Amino acid sequence: MRSLTLAEARERSSLITVTSYAVELDLDQGPDVFGSRTVLRFGCTTPGAGSWVDLKAHSVESIVLNGESLDPAQLADGRVALPDLAADNELAVVATMAYSHDGQGLHRATDPADGQDYVYGHLFLDAAPSVFACFDQPDLKAPYDVTVHAPEDWTVVGNGAATRAADGTWTLATTRPLATYFMTVCAGPYVSVRDEHDGIPLGIHARASLREPLERHAAELFDVTKRSFDYFHGLFGIRYPFGEYHQVFVPEFNAGAMENPGCVTFRDQYLYRGAATRDELLTRANTVSHEMSHMWFGDLVTMQWWDDLWLNESFAEYMSHRCLVEATDYTDAWVDSSIVRKVWGYGAERSPSTHPVAGVEALDAQSALQNFDGISYAKGAAALRQLIAYVGDDRFIAGVRAYLTDKSFGNGTLADFLRAIEASSGKDLEAWSRAWLLTADRDTISVEIDEQNGVVERAQVLRESPADRPADRPHTFDVAGWTDGCELGRVSTTVTGPVTTLPELEGTPEPAVLVPNASDLTWARVRLSDSTVAALPAQLPQIPDEQARAVVWSALIDGVHGASVSPDAFLDVFDAAWPQETNSSILTRVAAYAEHRIVPYFVPRPEQDAATARLNRAAAGLLEGAEPGTTESLAAARLVAGTSDDEALLRAWADGEGLPAGLEDDGDFRWIVVRNLAARGLIGVDEVDAFRAKDDTLQGGLNALMCRASLPDPEAKAWAWRQLTGREGRSNYEMVHLARGLWVAPDDALVADYVPRYFTDVPAMAGWVGEDALSRVVLVAFPRVFTEETARLSAKTIAREDLTPAVHRSLVDADAELREALASRQTFGAAV
Ligand SMILES: [Zn+2]
Repeated sequence: MRSLTLAEARERSSLITVTSYAVELDLDQGPDVFGSRTVLRFGCTTPGAGSWVDLKAHSVESIVLNGESLDPAQLADGRVALPDLAADNELAVVATMAYSHDGQGLHRATDPADGQDYVYGHLFLDAAPSVFACFDQPDLKAPYDVTVHAPEDWTVVGNGAATRAADGTWTLATTRPLATYFMTVCAGPYVSVRDEHDGIPLGIHARASLREPLERHAAELFDVTKRSFDYFHGLFGIRYPFGEYHQVFVPEFNAGAMENPGCVTFRDQYLYRGAATRDELLTRANTVSHEMSHMWFGDLVTMQWWDDLWLNESFAEYMSHRCLVEATDYTDAWVDSSIVRKVWGYGAERSPSTHPVAGVEALDAQSALQNFDGISYAKGAAALRQLIAYVGDDRFIAGVRAYLTDKSFGNGTLADFLRAIEASSGKDLEAWSRAWLLTADRDTISVEIDEQNGVVERAQVLRESPADRPADRPHTFDVAGWTDGCELGRVSTTVTGPVTTLPELEGTPEPAVLVPNASDLTWARVRLSDSTVAALPAQLPQIPDEQARAVVWSALIDGVHGASVSPDAFLDVFDAAWPQETNSSILTRVAAYAEHRIVPYFVPRPEQDAATARLNRAAAGLLEGAEPGTTESLAAARLVAGTSDDEALLRAWADGEGLPAGLEDDGDFRWIVVRNLAARGLIGVDEVDAFRAKDDTLQGGLNALMCRASLPDPEAKAWAWRQLTGREGRSNYEMVHLARGLWVAPDDALVADYVPRYFTDVPAMAGWVGEDALSRVVLVAFPRVFTEETARLSAKTIAREDLTPAVHRSLVDADAELREALASRQTFGAAV
C-alpha cells in the first residue's frame, strides 16, 4: 500500500472539509472479517475537482458518491478515486474488512483461558482505512457517529458513550471532531469497573479472565486517573472535552497505550497478575497520566502533519512526570525518567539513525514513523524542561494555554507552538529552537577540578558539542559532589559556552564523587571523571540523593555502550551499590539492564557465566535481607530466578515450593524460573507444556513459546525459526516471544546457522507482517552472535535498497548495538 505523502495531504486538505462520519461496524460475522458501512459527508472548495478516499478492504460491496454508483473494482493501492465533486457531498461505502493479528487496525485475539474473542481498534498511524472508508490524515477532523453490531454477550466501548438498544445494536454518542487515527471501538466480553469523578463517567475494562487483577488494581487506577484530571484541569484551564473516559486493557497491544479520545487502550500486561514492584505501578501510573495529557495536547489540538508527532509525545512525556510528582504519591517520577526513559533516549541518540527532535520533514506518513523513538519522547521532554528553564514556568504554561485555546478541535504546528511561547514570554526562540530542536546529537558535559591538598582551587564545566553536528545549546543544570554521603557542594549553573567556571566551588573540599547534571535537568552525555568512577563502589550507596544516583547509573550505562566504562567496572559498582539501592526504579531497572543487556552484550562469551554468577550473588544477598513482599524482595527474587544455576532451587520454585513470600501463586514469576530451567536444558518440551497447562492464558502461552525457543537443542531452534519466520499466522506478541528465546544458547555454535538466515528471512516478513509489529521483531530477533561476521552480514543487508523503512530503521539500530558490543569487547576483552 502506498503511504500518504505530505504533498498529497496538503492538496487534499485545501480541497476537502469533512462534515461528519457515520460508521456502522458488524462484528458478528465470525473470526476473520467484519462488515463496515461508512457514510461520509464532506465539502469541496472547488466543485468539479476530484479527490480520493482511503480504503483498505477485504472486499468492497458498493461505493456510492452523491447517489451515483462507482465501480468497486477501481479500488487500487488503498484508494478510491472520487471524480467531479460537488460543493457538498455524500459518500457511502459498504465493505468487508479483515481483522488484524499484528496490533494494527481492528485487532482480534482469542483468550486461551476461556476461548473468548476480543477486538480493539488501533488506527494509529494509518490503519483507519482498514476499518472504515476515510480521508486518513490528521488535519481532516470530523465528528463520528458509530454503531456496532456485536455478538449477544459482548460489551462495546468507544470514543462516545455507548448504549445498547433492544435489538442488541450498540450506539456510540456523537463525538467531538476527531482525527481519523483516534477512532476506536473495543468489543468483546470485556468485564468492567465503573466510577465517576467531577462529572466525568469513568470505566476500566479488561478480558474476562483478568477480572481478578482488574478489580484488585481498580482503586489505584481510578486514584491516578482522578488526580490527573484535577491536575490537568487546573494546569490547562480547559475542561476535558470528550465526555466519558474509558481505559481499556487490551491483548497483544504493540505500544504501552494509545490516547484515543474518551477510550484509551493499554497493553493488558499492565494489569499485573502477580506481585508488582513499586516501579511497575509507577510506570503504569505514568502511562495513565501520559495518555490523559494527550486529551488536550494531541487530541483537542492535533499536529497538522506527522512530522510534529514528536511535540505530542515530548509534551505528554513531560506532563505525565510533572503530574505524578505534583499530584500523586509517585514523587520520584523524575528518577524513573532518568533511569528508564532517558536511558532509552540516549540509546537512540547513540545510533546512526539519530535525528533532530523536530524539523525532519516527513515526506510521507510511514517515514514519519521511523523518526518516532526515544528522541521524540525523552529528548523532547528534556528539551521542554530546558525551554521552561529558559522562559520561566508561568510563561511556559501561559503559552501552552493560549496554544490549546487558540487551536481547540483543530491542528497546530511547531511554529504555532513556539509563537505562543514567544508571545507569552517575550523571548525570541529562534536560536534556542535551532540548537535544541533542529540539531541532532548531544553535548558532552564534564566537570574539571584543580585541587590543592584536597581543596578545590578551580572548577570548570566543559561542554563539547559533536564536531560533525556543531550546536550552541544553552544548558541549565546543577553540579553536586559527595564524600561518604555528605553533600559537599551543589551549584546551579547556566552553561552558554565551551567552558564555564564554577566560582562557588572554589575553596570547598574536593568531593570523592562529583556529578554533573545531578538533578538531571538537561540532555547530555555526562562524563564522570576517572576518580569518580573509581570511587563509586564505596561512595554510591552512601549518596542520599536518589536523583543523582540515577544520573550516575545512567552515565555508567552510557559509558559501557560507548566503551569508556568497562563492563567489569559496571559490575563492580553493581556488586557494591545495587543491593543497597532504595529507589524502586533504580533497583528494578538496573537489575534488568545488567541481566539482559550488560552481561549478554558486553561481557565476552567465556566470561558470561562468571558475570551472571556475580549478579546472582548480589541478588541472593538482597533477597536474604529484604523484608518479604517488598519491592526489594521481589526485584531480588526475580534476578535470582533469572540467573541462578542451582537446579534444586529452580525446580523447587517452579513446583511452588519454598517460594519467597508473596510469590506463591505468581504465574509470571514461575515463568522466569521455567525459562531459566529451559535455557539450561534442565527441562524439555513436555515439561514446558506441563507448565503451560498450569497457566493456560494468553500470557502463559507466550511464555511457553519463549521457553520452548530457549531450549538448547537444534530441534527447538529449528522449530522456533519456522514458527517465527514462516507464514504460520503467529501474532505480533508470539513472534516477539519466539525471537526472545531463539538466541538464548550456551554457545554460539547452536544458533550460528540462523545468523545468515536472519538477514534474508526476517526482512522478507514485510510481505505479511505490519511495519509497526515487524520493527519490533527485527530488533528482538537480531542475532546475538557478536562477531565480525555478523557485523559484515548486517552492513551488507542495511545497504540493500529493497528493505521497507521500518525494517531498515530497526536494522540500523540493532547493528549499532552490535558494533558497540564489539568495540567494548575489543577495548576491554583482555582485561575482563
Ligand atoms: Zn503518547
